[in-house]
Amino acid sequence: MLNIYNTESRKKEPISLATGQDKIRMYTCGPTIYHFAHIGNFRTYVVEDLFRRAILYFGMPIVQVMNLTDVDDKTIKGALNAGVSLGEYTEKYKKAFFEDLEALNTQPVEIIAPATSYIDAMIAMIEKLLKKGVAYKGKDGDIFFSIKKFPSYGRLSHLKLDELKEGASERVTDEYEKEAASDFVLWKAYKPDRDGDTFWESPFGKGRPGWHIECSAMANALLGDSIDIHMGGVDNIFPHHENEIAQCEACNHSTFVRHWIHVEHLLVDGKKMSKSLGNFYTLRDLFAKGYASREVRYQLMTTHYRTQLNFTLDGLDSARHTLRRIDDFIYRLKKVKQEGGASISPYIADVRKAFKQALADDLNISVAISVLFDMIREINSRLDQKALGLLASEEVIVFLKEVDQVLGVLFTQEEESIPPEIMEAFEKRQKARAAKDWGAADHARDFIQSKGYVIEDSLDGSRVKKQS
Ligand SMILES: [Zn+2]
Repeated sequence: MLNIYNTESRKKEPISLATGQDKIRMYTCGPTIYHFAHIGNFRTYVVEDLFRRAILYFGMPIVQVMNLTDVDDKTIKGALNAGVSLGEYTEKYKKAFFEDLEALNTQPVEIIAPATSYIDAMIAMIEKLLKKGVAYKGKDGDIFFSIKKFPSYGRLSHLKLDELKEGASERVTDEYEKEAASDFVLWKAYKPDRDGDTFWESPFGKGRPGWHIECSAMANALLGDSIDIHMGGVDNIFPHHENEIAQCEACNHSTFVRHWIHVEHLLVDGKKMSKSLGNFYTLRDLFAKGYASREVRYQLMTTHYRTQLNFTLDGLDSARHTLRRIDDFIYRLKKVKQEGGASISPYIADVRKAFKQALADDLNISVAISVLFDMIREINSRLDQKALGLLASEEVIVFLKEVDQVLGVLFTQEEESIPPEIMEAFEKRQKARAAKDWGAADHARDFIQSKGYVIEDSLDGSRVKKQS
């Protein structure tokens, strides 16, 4: 059983299929596509991917929805400033976002939901809330949710009710006031100077949806009124997720989410990431510094998700070092040719059990990783003693592949992170050696070394790797 902390109950609870369901229905709040996502955003997406992989590893099929906020204050403002249509403006960041996710080796989710494709569902939900008397029209034509009509408002974030301010917020934007809750906007009446040509027709006038209703309407439309898991960053707990609960439950009268999971913040060098402090990184910034995507993934996922992660370049260097140890280990295993040796199955079964137990305990990734390294140490010493046979080494590789179904960093292939020009030079060198053209072989080797790579020759063949 995968026991995971539920933000709402403040307890670890097992993740399970709901009665009558054959899949875990998971909704994850996706990006607002108005700029390149930063590594703080990617920590959340990588952890969500780790959860998804763990759920699958524990034998539960999953259907995951990730929304794309492609209409809100920020996207509209960005498009107006750039003098392009909203769609044209968001397309660029949407493309970049998926490229980055792929680089981080996150599994593709089943359903990507751009908000602008679900406006009808949002309008229908607002109509329902108006009919039930939970929503009302403000003086400028905006539609608001009345939090006093939803008595359990605040239960996710554990706010006390006297902290709630009734009445419409004066600042009617998608940005929040952190200090107090107030009625929030469901529909923003069209304002030409603010919205440009972005608006939809609705029974309550021209306008566009507020941010919170986007997620509620899409979650219900795609996964049903009641879903199993909802994830997001801790900054989404209040008010975004609180508002999602209010909207869905006031509409459907059934529990919206069984299990709320939230990922802690990321700090850089111990400080909140900000452009003014110069510690703001997109994934692209890190690639430009020469880091590989798997090194970033490794650092983003190896701090427990409910602990703040202190991201540092030193941390990336040590991720690189750790991953090379694993690469070297896999390389050694692949070189084993000798027959015989003792069976390793009982040992692997114990390691698997320990690995699963660590994951089952609120996704305790540091324990899971240390289980893996204990195994690497043990098997390395067997390799040193030439006590590991071919069958056993193959069994270890198969087990590592199993573990990597969850981690997604072990078999991203070192070759893949080697630039094509290096691989080309390496192939040239191999051909030159085969043809005994030593001059050409040395020339290719020098080129490879000048780029920070080395060639390792052994009886089993040659390979190229990054200089450590
Ligand atoms: Zn959301």
